[in-house]
Amino acid sequence: MKKQIAILGSTGSIGTQALQVIEEHPDLYEAYVLTANNRVELLIEQARKFQPEAVVIANEAKYGQLKEALADLPVKVYAGREALCQVVTDQQVDMVLTAMVGYAGLQPTMAAIKAHKPIALANKETLVVAGELINELAHVNRTPILPVDSEHSAVFQCLAGEGNNAIEKVILTASGGPFRTFSREQLAHVTKEQALKHPNWSMGSKITIDSASMMNKGFEVMEAKWLFGVKPEQIEVVVHPQSIVHSMVQFADGAIKAQLGMPDMRLPIQYAFSYPERKQASFPRIDWRQCNTLTFEEPDVDRFRNLALAYEALHRGGNMPCIVNAANEVAVEAFLHDQVGFLAMSDIIEQAMARMAFIAKPTYEDYVQTDRETRSITHELIH
Ligand code: NDP
Ligand code: MG
Repeated sequence: MKKQIAILGSTGSIGTQALQVIEEHPDLYEAYVLTANNRVELLIEQARKFQPEAVVIANEAKYGQLKEALADLPVKVYAGREALCQVVTDQQVDMVLTAMVGYAGLQPTMAAIKAHKPIALANKETLVVAGELINELAHVNRTPILPVDSEHSAVFQCLAGEGNNAIEKVILTASGGPFRTFSREQLAHVTKEQALKHPNWSMGSKITIDSASMMNKGFEVMEAKWLFGVKPEQIEVVVHPQSIVHSMVQFADGAIKAQLGMPDMRLPIQYAFSYPERKQASFPRIDWRQCNTLTFEEPDVDRFRNLALAYEALHRGGNMPCIVNAANEVAVEAFLHDQVGFLAMSDIIEQAMARMAFIAKPTYEDYVQTDRETRSITHELIH
């Protein structure tokens, strides 16, 4: 039996790499659902190639074009946000890969968990915004959440075979991004073109900016907390510019296990698909003649203030991470439209954190409200 996989966000960086994994293993995996937001041409091309059971375009204005282009195929065509939540509950779906970007991933992920579908989680914003709620939901529904983020996949791989052995520390590696060695003065003048050039990874624009500002690493600290049940003080960030050591776990006896490999997201995607087994893969291997220096250094939270803001949100808990996420989504969008500078993103997020009402034990409705209000406040701060 082939595993039937629903890919939310199949037209993105993670989505297209997931389709490469499926293509490499036609005997193991099948794309059952493909979805996009706007890139309808690519979705049509993917649907023609992979012949899924259903496709969804979130932007309803593109429905007509999609429907018409696939009229000769037996593919069900849907549109809208509600359809994203519906389609993942199909009885045939064996796993849902959440590869959408941002807060928009929260609702369909919740729908998939409630339908008992194992989650391959790339959409880290879901855990940043509502980690506690998602964990509870996954627990009640006995739905596994398998990490796709490379650092968390590395930790997950280090934990294989460790049974009940307690984690002393999770050590998340960070590349440091394109501005690792920049001074604050230099950071004040960087352009989006520079920020979009990540040294080691090719990813969607939002996460690439988050990587340059190190907000991505802040989010990954939160993600690690919820995925591995560790306290914030048990999570350490280490800058490792070569992105070969994907992360590490330290145990009670001081032993540290690490997972290494070339920076290639197809490996963690495939591991989430095949877990607990490992399958053959054609990805490039490390060449030790080329890879002869691995370095590690402390992150600088004075130059990369987003990392400090993320830690603050993590310590305060409640709806604070949701506030940081929403403010960050708006700030990144504004930076990508040349409306704010690189360093202003941190100022804006900090101000949004100060202005929003704190809720210690948010419900789902509180998160929805917090997200909406934070976006509106952040827009005001920018314009
Ligand atoms: P991309 O921007 O490349 O792709 C995002 C996907 O989500 C696209 O298919 C896009 O559709 C769709 N989408 C965007 N907004 C919406 C919306 N409002 N409703 C429905 N669908 C939407 O992002 P990435 O693939 O880089 O990242 C996806 C997620 O994975 C993020 O949460 C990111 O943090 C995480 N991640 C990514 C890594 C990477 O290497 N790229 C590594 C680790 C984590 P369309 O194409 O039509 O716009
Ligand atoms: Mg990562």
